[in-house]
Amino acid sequence: MSSAADLDVVVIGAGVVGLALARALALAGRDVTVVERENAVGCGVSARSSEVIHAGIYYAPGSLKARLCVAGRRALYAYCESHSVPHQRCGKLIVAQAAQAENLGSIAARAQAAGVELIRLNGSQARELEPELSCALALHSPHTGIVDSHALMLALQGDAETAGAVFAFNTPVIGGRASDERVTLAFGGAEPVEASARVVVIAAGLSAPRVAASITGLSHGAIPRAFFAKGSYFTLGGRAPFSRLVYPVPQAGGLGVHLTLDLAGRARFGPDVEWLNAAHESEIDYRVDPARANAFYAAIRDYWPGLPDGALEPAYAGVRPKIVGPGAPDADFLVLGPQEHGAGGVFGLYGVESPGLTSALAIADHLARMIEPGAERICDV
Ligand SMILES: Cc1cc2nc3c(=O)[nH]c(=O)nc-3n(C[C@H](O)[C@H](O)[C@H](O)COP(=O)(O)OP(=O)(O)OC[C@H]3O[C@@H](n4cnc5c(N)ncnc54)[C@H](O)[C@@H]3O)c2cc1C
Repeated sequence: MSSAADLDVVVIGAGVVGLALARALALAGRDVTVVERENAVGCGVSARSSEVIHAGIYYAPGSLKARLCVAGRRALYAYCESHSVPHQRCGKLIVAQAAQAENLGSIAARAQAAGVELIRLNGSQARELEPELSCALALHSPHTGIVDSHALMLALQGDAETAGAVFAFNTPVIGGRASDERVTLAFGGAEPVEASARVVVIAAGLSAPRVAASITGLSHGAIPRAFFAKGSYFTLGGRAPFSRLVYPVPQAGGLGVHLTLDLAGRARFGPDVEWLNAAHESEIDYRVDPARANAFYAAIRDYWPGLPDGALEPAYAGVRPKIVGPGAPDADFLVLGPQEHGAGGVFGLYGVESPGLTSALAIADHLARMIEPGAERICDV
């Protein structure tokens, strides 16, 4: 990027959401520049997910999460098919013991409100599908799946570049100033530069609130506070005993210690929920504490009593970009535009935790039509 460049649209962040948005806007004919502080796409939250294509079961009726997950899931399956992105519609079971029947009932009601197909099973019907399971009741979600998220991001980057988007790596946004006409951004890196743009979209994952706060001229009262909730994973040594994903009923802050599969059929458990005190993304410690395995064994044996001792190996951890703290009800995705930011041309995405990977194409569509009302609709939101 040249010094003091005049740009049309700048997307800050090349995670799955920024990439999907860059693609949508470039296809709509905008001149898009993606600025990313790392040296490649997908190094942030998007690199550390469960890679699950969620059906759209759990979210408050009418919320962005509920609408964008369902629309995003449909668009994502179609995109994976048309772009040969490895994926599998393997299905999932949400399992419960008899005392949790009420929880399962409210999950089924939410899914029904969102138009998501779920099949109610008793314990023996669930064991016909997955013989190793121990549960009294289950819900079968046939449209849940898994995706190779890195292949997805590379495909989105390729589409965006083919449509004319330009990527600037090793280009961290370190501040800016917004006026009604243009937004000027300052970039750190080897050669500090400034650029102004008509439209700036903050898609910076865990750092989105911090990036917005670094831009003067915005109404900072509208920008949410960042909270970080770490989720650790353990992998299972040996063959996976299940062919579908298996989830318990959700726990506060996350979906419970569940079993997901990768496309090679390996099983991993997690993520759990550990609220961090970090004030800044750079303070996050991503190492997995092996001692957390104790709680995993107990939680997993509720639905898989056959889990052998010593079978779990520490794997990796991800951190959820939360905008509410411990104990608060889950927040929706927060999409702010020029009106809320109090400055023309600034859009921001905050709290894009799960199901953000599933929803990425629909989030992009939603935002692209806020920015460019004539943009072609790619999702039925
Ligand atoms: C543990 C875990 C499991 C998950 N599992 C699932 C799942 O199975 N299914 C699902 O649908 N969703 C899942 N999610 C949610 C999903 O991963 C996220 O919603 C999604 O990846 C968010 O993408 P993003 O592009 O918003 O953020 P990111 O991927 O974090 O991208 C933001 C980018 O901005 C860059 N950036 C930050 N600051 C700056 C700056 N100052 N200047 C320039 N660039 C900057 C970062 O380097 C990064 O590349 C999970 C999340 C977590 C934490």
